[in-house]
Amino acid sequence: MKSKLMNKILPTVKNPIQYIGKELNSVHKEIKSDTIRYAFAFPDIYEIGMSHLGMKILYHLLNEQEDIYCERVFAPMVDMEEKMRRENIPLFAWETMDAITHFDFIGFTLQYEMSYSNIINMLDLGEVPLLAAERTKEHPFVMVGGPCAYNPEPLADFVDIVILGEAEEVILEVMEAYRKWKKSEGSRKDFLHSIASITGVYIPAFYQVEYDEEGKITSFQPISSAYPSTVQKRIIKDLDKTYYPDKVVVPYTNIVHDRIMLELFRGCTRGCRFCQAGMIYRPVREKTPETLKSIAEKLVKNTGYEDISLASLSTSDYTQLVPLVKNLMEEYKDKGVGLSLPSLRIDSFSIKLAEEIQKVRKTGLTFAPEAGTQKLRNVINKGVTEENLMEATRQAFEAGWGTIKLYFMIGLPTETNEDIEGIGDLGKKVVQQYFQVEKEKRNKALRVTVSTSSFVPKPFTPFQWEPQNTMEELKEKQQYLKNIIRDRKISYSWHEPKISFLEAIFARGDRRLGKVLLKAWEKGCKFDGWDEHFKFNSWMEAFEECHIDPSFYAHRKREYEEKLPWDFIDIGVSKSFLIREHKNALKERVTPFCRENCVNCGVENFDGGWTCYVDC
Ligand code: SF4
Repeated sequence: MKSKLMNKILPTVKNPIQYIGKELNSVHKEIKSDTIRYAFAFPDIYEIGMSHLGMKILYHLLNEQEDIYCERVFAPMVDMEEKMRRENIPLFAWETMDAITHFDFIGFTLQYEMSYSNIINMLDLGEVPLLAAERTKEHPFVMVGGPCAYNPEPLADFVDIVILGEAEEVILEVMEAYRKWKKSEGSRKDFLHSIASITGVYIPAFYQVEYDEEGKITSFQPISSAYPSTVQKRIIKDLDKTYYPDKVVVPYTNIVHDRIMLELFRGCTRGCRFCQAGMIYRPVREKTPETLKSIAEKLVKNTGYEDISLASLSTSDYTQLVPLVKNLMEEYKDKGVGLSLPSLRIDSFSIKLAEEIQKVRKTGLTFAPEAGTQKLRNVINKGVTEENLMEATRQAFEAGWGTIKLYFMIGLPTETNEDIEGIGDLGKKVVQQYFQVEKEKRNKALRVTVSTSSFVPKPFTPFQWEPQNTMEELKEKQQYLKNIIRDRKISYSWHEPKISFLEAIFARGDRRLGKVLLKAWEKGCKFDGWDEHFKFNSWMEAFEECHIDPSFYAHRKREYEEKLPWDFIDIGVSKSFLIREHKNALKERVTPFCRENCVNCGVENFDGGWTCYVDC
């Protein structure tokens, strides 16, 4: 297979170097009889998957174990897949080019609902039975984790194991149970049984669901009292002590984020009401600057990268940011290693910091006011004002920036035409701000991009009960905004409402969607997040043939009393807090940033108790 791949296929496909493996710092091991083979699978192409921090961490963490060999696998691009299918080459892992069906585990990371059809496609291409119920002892266990695993139900038919929360510890516990099981020669079910009570592990096959005649869930329970009725997510308590790779694989070809990612902290407690990450990753846990400095030093040395990105959900909230940045700048300014901050808040502090960091090379600045009016920003609890934005953009223009991107969402709960007009107004005000800055100071060219995505209600957010706007409503709103934005200095880009519609269906879906997913894949659906591959009509046919109404999932308002498909998962944040936040949203009432005032979200009682901030 290898020679066919190397000689016949790879010379004829786009960007063949992405399939070859053997990159700097990739791990190569001898395979022995007791080696546990783990394929870390990213359900998208190499260029995207290789930028993913979770993959970098788990790949190296698993490979630190002597008897585990973790390899990487990505979705081949469409041209490559065609040739693989024609030549009967099964999906292989990048390190050994062995077919993934020979592995013990295939672990998919779920970053985005629109990658679900790629999971089915990759299993099929890998010659792994698609349904968990059809796998035998000869087949790998299919595992999933990542943010979308917080509602894993649409994938329940296809996966054996779901990991909820941060995987660094729980995955090693699962591997330990696997070692024991392998020696015991028990059945597949015996292994799943042995891990079902590990905190953070959910086995979909061990649970059953019942529905009423309207299609709402009436009961969701384990098939035996041996399994927990609530599954608690896993968190790493001390990030300083947890594993972080000191070398990462350096690709030969361009990838989306080709740099060192220094993770400053996990969690975010700003409390934006649409944001799932802000809820599921609580509590905030920081790494100390000393740990970060030492990680950075090793990573620079071991990779040769010349850019360090300070990554976290809201980087400016890192309590030690100023001393850390100062220190890293001093250390690396003469060594040609630059810093970047991917997630800036709209405030003067962030601009000063960005100015400091980007003295030489100024890339564009991105701000996310999310909504066009103060009323709607209060509804979503986005703690920024128009003054903040104007002040931040003034400083940015004075410091020489000319490219500004503004991110908004349309279709948010309670939105009116006035809120849409507000988006256009903010764009105009940013342009005016530029012209108010002295000519000598400002950049010669101005480019303002207004970009809107469509609101998708996500599980575990205060908006999880809200309906999504219909596609027609979203299109009308986009058109309305297009008509408002007439200034040639502003360009407007938007997301395809059809994709957002599908995202909303799967984000809040239940396990009945498994058959739709299968049907849609049979009709050729894959790479659904890519406009050029997205086959909306095939999806709609799949829903029809399965007699499932997609609007039931996307456009229906849920009552607080309704059982939600993900209610069995305990993320720490309580449902009563989410209800309180939802009610506050409808009253346009703002909830303060946790650091100013803890509002008892529930995390303080989670997993033996938690104090997020010293003053809490
Ligand atoms: S416990 Fe308090 S400080 Fe911690 S995340 Fe919840 S609301 Fe914020």
